[in-house]
Amino acid sequence: MTLSEQAQAGNADAEEIAKFEQLAERWWDTDGEFRPLHEMNPVRVNYIDERAPLAGKTVLDVGCGGGILSEAMAQRGAQVTGIDLGKAPLEVAENHAKQGELNIDYQLISAEEMAAAHPGHFDIVTCLEMLEHVPDPASIVTACAQLVKPGGHVFFSTLNRNPKAWGLAVVGAEYLLKLLPKGTHDYAKFIKPSELAAFARGADLSLVDTCGISYNPIGRHFKLAPSDVSVNYLMHTQKNN
Ligand code: SAH
Repeated sequence: MTLSEQAQAGNADAEEIAKFEQLAERWWDTDGEFRPLHEMNPVRVNYIDERAPLAGKTVLDVGCGGGILSEAMAQRGAQVTGIDLGKAPLEVAENHAKQGELNIDYQLISAEEMAAAHPGHFDIVTCLEMLEHVPDPASIVTACAQLVKPGGHVFFSTLNRNPKAWGLAVVGAEYLLKLLPKGTHDYAKFIKPSELAAFARGADLSLVDTCGISYNPIGRHFKLAPSDVSVNYLMHTQKNN
């Protein structure tokens, strides 16, 4: 099966995967298309590490791409596995980790297949900035819940769906600031916190916290905004025992 057939057969959008394949070479260019992920990385890693200390833990990073989050978690002492359906991003991730002498296990496999193979295996599962690119996000949330140990932590982040999020994440970031290539985001796939919380509850995950991430375009600075989930937000959930 070719990758695009595999993507079509499963819960993946071949066009979305192709988009990230094409950009893969520039994944670690901190002034390139992935600049927002680089800029928000310290904020989100701190959020995760404070809530579920990473050192010594087994962590699965779902939709890891070129490894921006995976590497930061490995640097904090986690034993990280990263999965994605994009071959080129995974190759970039693997090479970059080697250069930095980080030991990260990258695999081309879907979240659903990983869940069937390794149920209840990980202390922590992360799935950031990925759900808004898949046809059936609830199925990914369910797979993440299956992959984590009872009592373990699952973190998600995505974009809220409302006029402000459209204005900032699509018009602002893609058209005005040109932070992101046009077409990076499909507004219809954005997910409201209430929807993500419902997917989580349906997958036997308890909601622990929801926290916004806000962007200051002048200072080029992301920060946690606990009471403003209007655009980008993180969600911390925990698997029921
Ligand atoms: N989570 C990373 C990368 C986000 S970019 C970070 O926050 O730094 C989105 C990633 O999701 C891309 O690498 C893309 O290839 C991946 N992706 C999209 N659809 C996917 C799917 N159905 N299964 C696995 N990965 C997917």
